[in-house]
Amino acid sequence: RKAVGKLRTNSSSLDELLGGGVETQSITEFYGEFGSGKTQVAHQLAVNVQLPPEEGGLNGSVIMIDTENTFRPERIAQMVKGIKGGEDLDPEDFLKNIHVARAYNSNHQILLVESALELAEKMRDSDKPVRLMIVDSLTAHFRSEYVGRGTLADRQQKLNKHMHDLMRFGDLNNAAIVVTNQVQAKPDAFFGDPTRPVGGHIVGHTATFRLYLRKSKGEKRIARLVDSPNLPEGEAIFSVTTDGLRD
Ligand code: ATP
Ligand code: MG
Repeated sequence: RKAVGKLRTNSSSLDELLGGGVETQSITEFYGEFGSGKTQVAHQLAVNVQLPPEEGGLNGSVIMIDTENTFRPERIAQMVKGIKGGEDLDPEDFLKNIHVARAYNSNHQILLVESALELAEKMRDSDKPVRLMIVDSLTAHFRSEYVGRGTLADRQQKLNKHMHDLMRFGDLNNAAIVVTNQVQAKPDAFFGDPTRPVGGHIVGHTATFRLYLRKSKGEKRIARLVDSPNLPEGEAIFSVTTDGLRD
């Protein structure tokens, strides 16, 4: 087993909450309502993972499974330009290390993890091995496809398998796995609380770190670490700015 790597977020308070950054060989779930910053965090990590360790990165590339078509190359460019001393950096050099795969439905999303394993294996000895896998959003397809009575058990079983596949990807590649999840829009047959993440305990027991994001004033966002096995519960305040995540 390789040493766990830590991927920094650009917010020292969020990094501290996470015990130094997003860990490899773990699944970190960011959940929260629309506009809470989940996709922004995903974009920032896709940039940061490419940096050397002394700058908070893992010298790696990233595979992003995009289920809602919310990946924006222009946003990556802003964040690259936002790197301190990064005015001369070329966003294209970062974009080429972000392998975006659009998932059209939940079965396709599950299959993409298989393709990701193959791609990561090919790249293992390159100068930018895959060190980050993002699934944004983990649950959107599952939620829209499995509706109505009698489908929940099936949904949970598929989601459970998907989470285990992702965990395996993280272990094999010493990669960080970051997934996003919306909160329940309305009470669910199993989980009545509207602030609960979709997928309830299945996602919860497989994700190592769960962060609940919520909006505060303006650019400010609040992250709360929920049910961590080894870290104290707590909150961090960070900002989403044009340059990317900041304290
Ligand atoms: P959803 O559940 O709809 O996917 P989300 O949690 O992924 O929501 P984000 O897309 O990450 O939400 O957050 C959108 C917010 O991020 C915007 O409302 C804005 O506050 C901020 N934001 C997005 N782009 C920029 C930008 N270029 N400059 C500054 N802030 C931005
Ligand atoms: Mg989003």
